[in-house]
Amino acid sequence: MGVRKNTYPLQSLATGSWFKLICGASFQHLPSIHDLTLAYGLAGADCIDVAADPAVVTMATEALDLAEAIADQSPDLALHWQGRPWLMMSLNDAEDPHFRKAFFDPDQCPADCSRPCESICPAIAIDATGVIGDRCYGCGRCVPICPLGLIDTQNHVSSPQTAAELIVSGKIEAVEIHTQAGHFADFKKLWQTLKPVHHHLKLLAISCQDHPKVLAYLNHLFEEIAPLSCTLLWQTDGRPMSGDIGKGTIHASIQFAQKVLQSNLSGYVQLAGGTNNHTVHKLNSLQLLRGDRPDATNPFVSGIAYGSYARKLLQPILEPKDSTSRPLEQDPDRLWQAVNSASDLINPLKSLANLSPLL
Ligand code: SF4
Ligand code: SF4
Repeated sequence: MGVRKNTYPLQSLATGSWFKLICGASFQHLPSIHDLTLAYGLAGADCIDVAADPAVVTMATEALDLAEAIADQSPDLALHWQGRPWLMMSLNDAEDPHFRKAFFDPDQCPADCSRPCESICPAIAIDATGVIGDRCYGCGRCVPICPLGLIDTQNHVSSPQTAAELIVSGKIEAVEIHTQAGHFADFKKLWQTLKPVHHHLKLLAISCQDHPKVLAYLNHLFEEIAPLSCTLLWQTDGRPMSGDIGKGTIHASIQFAQKVLQSNLSGYVQLAGGTNNHTVHKLNSLQLLRGDRPDATNPFVSGIAYGSYARKLLQPILEPKDSTSRPLEQDPDRLWQAVNSASDLINPLKSLANLSPLL
């Protein structure tokens, strides 16, 4: 399979209206990945970001194939469809909270525990058997809440070889590398494996958190990866996996994005970590979105990635308590409801952007 030709996501980056759904760098629950990809894909997302796991990539690819077929046949569901979103996989060069899973031994839990770990978990990843590994995306909220300190986490570092094979397979259009200031040697090692195959990609994203020396670090990375055969995006990761908590979670990501924009580092800038339904309004009030300023001289944020908030928004629809066994695509009411909810999150960003391309 060759790389597909849809350039709409690139236009979205250029016009400041890029919307990325983060399924989760360590989230491997295949039915949820299928449904989230289908709903957000049909609602007009530009990119779906998944774990670098062949089974997850295959499931997301099948869901995008299905979305394309549905959009072709259904004028109602095709309302927001601008073309097939790009599929991105996320990698880490060293330990990173996005790439961990919680675990505990349920046999050690007292029978009278009120199970606060279960109620705090946003991913329905804890039950009587312990942590359901595929569902856990590593947010870490369960760890400090156990009164007996029974919960620990285990980190996972991506396999560069598996990543390179997935890139060559043509199933993905984009790769995101999670790194941190001070990880240059690890980044370089990973890039040595990806560099020979990166021409298969349309986009390379580099995700990093703020740090006193982060700009020097990002410049160092830029020198290492240049010249690139694809578009470059910096993901300014603020408060990881926190967007579902509340309104004030976006500040760290915005401050970091402003820092990167002012540094004139080459490449697009996109927010993540703490994003939710308040983010577009906040960015707009700070004049950080291109909006209707096609001649804007100030640098603008090119897009927003939504993770925990986007997943929580659709959770009651995709995983109703009175669980139906009908797949989402065979349940038009539920599918339409999910696409509408996803659109409610996507549309404020899309409608603010002047969609005349700057390419
Ligand atoms: S609370 Fe977070 S870290 Fe703990 S099991 Fe749930 S998703 Fe995993
Ligand atoms: S809070 Fe701790 S003791 Fe209670 S069920 Fe969860 S892991 Fe077990």
